[in-house]
Amino acid sequence: MSEFAIPAPDGQRVLKSPNISFEFFPPKTEEMERSLWDTINRLAPLAPNFVSVTYGAGGSTRERTHSTIARILAETRLTPAAHLTCVGASRGEIDEIVDRYHDIGVRHIVALRGDPATGIGTAYVGHPDGYKTSADLVAGIKKRHPDIEVSVSAYPEKHPEALDFDADIDRLKAKVDAGAARAITQVFFDNDLYFRYLDRVRARGIEIPIVPGIMPMHNFKQARNFVTRAGTTVPDWLAEKFEGLDDDAETRKLVAATVAAGQVQKLAKHGVDTFHFYTMNRADLVLAICHLLGIRPKSAAKAA
Ligand code: FAD
Repeated sequence: MSEFAIPAPDGQRVLKSPNISFEFFPPKTEEMERSLWDTINRLAPLAPNFVSVTYGAGGSTRERTHSTIARILAETRLTPAAHLTCVGASRGEIDEIVDRYHDIGVRHIVALRGDPATGIGTAYVGHPDGYKTSADLVAGIKKRHPDIEVSVSAYPEKHPEALDFDADIDRLKAKVDAGAARAITQVFFDNDLYFRYLDRVRARGIEIPIVPGIMPMHNFKQARNFVTRAGTTVPDWLAEKFEGLDDDAETRKLVAATVAAGQVQKLAKHGVDTFHFYTMNRADLVLAICHLLGIRPKSAAKAA
């Protein structure tokens, strides 16, 4: 991994190595599986800190998430992180999943509450015998297996269910107190939102890394619907950049790479040195953005 220069506040230049991680979703079909593995093999030489695999809403991909994580462990030198939500499951079921991961050598879990079973925007009802909150889940994992590192979510625009930022940051604080080592943010497009959130979090005495989640918009229209539902604001200036490109995938791709590269470069200029990429199981844009960040393949870091 090469180094890149960040101007320090006093005007001197300091050198830091960017840390990256990649997020994938478990494939549904054999074709999607081939495509995911092509992506993993292309991104692995960038030597990410870890690669995470999501857990479908309500645990719908429980087995597929497990088998993708198991294959990453068996066939690559990458460090996998398994996403896990506690919605709709009893403590016993969750503990069993965690134990299974631990048995095969997984030492990193991204612990989440999950969306309400009745859909985003409806009231969340926990399983009667389940972990009630994501903080309970973090505590449960750390109690069973102290050697599992736990990452959690963070919301620079606050979670849609949060009454206000204070309430939102209370939840983050509870997760940190329960043992979370890092928070990964929901996707955001306006860096000021991230920096304002970071100020609030630090003012509450929360010191863990708050890693920005970066999503290159491969398909702007689809991605806009998806992220808006999760509470992310898509600014007008961003929508304008994709105007008229609905039938021009090639140009859209170039625009998407330029926009995301601009975002990470501006974050890096302000001292951010760790990035989590929502890859959507595609390598090309993420490779280009990492290249612009100064990250080069490490020959020893090949996937297989
Ligand atoms: P939390 O951080 O626990 O809570 C979110 C908000 O809900 C809080 O800010 C607070 O406002 C409110 N809240 C929760 N509990 C309480 C309480 N006891 N009292 C008051 N307010 C409360 N979803 C999946 O299904 N699978 C995934 O793999 C997945 N991966 C994700 C990865 C990242 C990095 C992020 C940011 C999100 C991910 N999600 C995933 C989405 C996530 O499950 C939803 O956003 C869900 O609605 C909240 O789960 P959480 O763990 O983020 O919630």
